[in-house]
Amino acid sequence: MEMKITLSHKICLDPTYKQEQYFKQACGIARFTWNWALAEWNRQYETGLKPSAFALKKQFNAIKPIDFPWMYNVTKYASQQPFIYLQSAFNRFFQRLGAYPKFKKKGKHDSFYIGNDHIKLEEKLIKFPKLGWVRMREALRFSGKVISATVSRVANKWFVSLNIELDQTPKSCESQAGVGVDLGVKTLATLSNGETFEAPKPLKKFLSKLKRMQRSLSRREKGSQNRHKLRQKIANVHARITNLRQDSLHKLTCYLTDNFAGIVIEDLNVKGMLKNRKLSRAIADIGFYEFRRQLEYKYKCKGNYLLIADRWFPSSKTCSNCGQKKNELKLSERVYQCSACGHEIDRDLNAAINLKNLLFQSN
Ligand SMILES: [Zn+2]
Repeated sequence: MEMKITLSHKICLDPTYKQEQYFKQACGIARFTWNWALAEWNRQYETGLKPSAFALKKQFNAIKPIDFPWMYNVTKYASQQPFIYLQSAFNRFFQRLGAYPKFKKKGKHDSFYIGNDHIKLEEKLIKFPKLGWVRMREALRFSGKVISATVSRVANKWFVSLNIELDQTPKSCESQAGVGVDLGVKTLATLSNGETFEAPKPLKKFLSKLKRMQRSLSRREKGSQNRHKLRQKIANVHARITNLRQDSLHKLTCYLTDNFAGIVIEDLNVKGMLKNRKLSRAIADIGFYEFRRQLEYKYKCKGNYLLIADRWFPSSKTCSNCGQKKNELKLSERVYQCSACGHEIDRDLNAAINLKNLLFQSN
């Protein structure tokens, strides 16, 4: 059986002032339409009717030319897709998979969907109807059919998330499955299928040895033979540590590229994490950059797909079972407990599953 892999690739946009106005307007229209439809749904329900998004859309389109003529300035998707989203939100609610749909707020819900018949891609450019070409920071990294795009704003930056159906599955992999990888502090890596990779044990031993040696180095007389010898010893320990780290990372990255077609990792906000000194030490030890570097050259050779999740993607805070997002999650909370569906799962495994799900998300 052939399985189609769908993934989304999020790219930062560089819109001009005029293009940004278009984006803001389209986001506003998408939000307005959603809120209109939800209010109308609630109203009809209260009067004893059984509302449907399809009927609401017809009703909306009948009054649109007179009541909302400004909506024609942007892609029609901005005022059509919200009905489809609303219906699936209610479907999830009826199946007890999601909360009751809420009204959207400016500054919190700034995005709009656009179908593939309304966009064009060319290297680092993307074309929108009634707007023209907008610059992208990078070209699309995957070859396949673009299904749709979602433009969104995060902290005053604009992004386009492109949904792609990959046109070929990698040859090197027997398993066509995708995997999410959560790099950890105590555990080197947790995979979305439940497998874990432990950090090499001798590393800790060498690190404390290194500390001791460096302390005694500072006490030795400058220019002395003893000091020179110790310097060389320190260099050797450094090399051992680097080798150990490299070795375990090679094992991990080989395992990933040999066994999984699609790999999703996190674009860690390392700067933010370095504030926590204890944690930063561990992260440096694990060598996140080295991990990413190895994966990036191996996946190209072996033909996997590598997806790097956006650094704002809440992989740890989201419930991998129902999609509910927590506002706060302490580092000490090792078990994720969902207040919405009651799901309990290891924190790292939860994050890895959320990353993996990015490969198959539909919007
Ligand atoms: Zn849940």
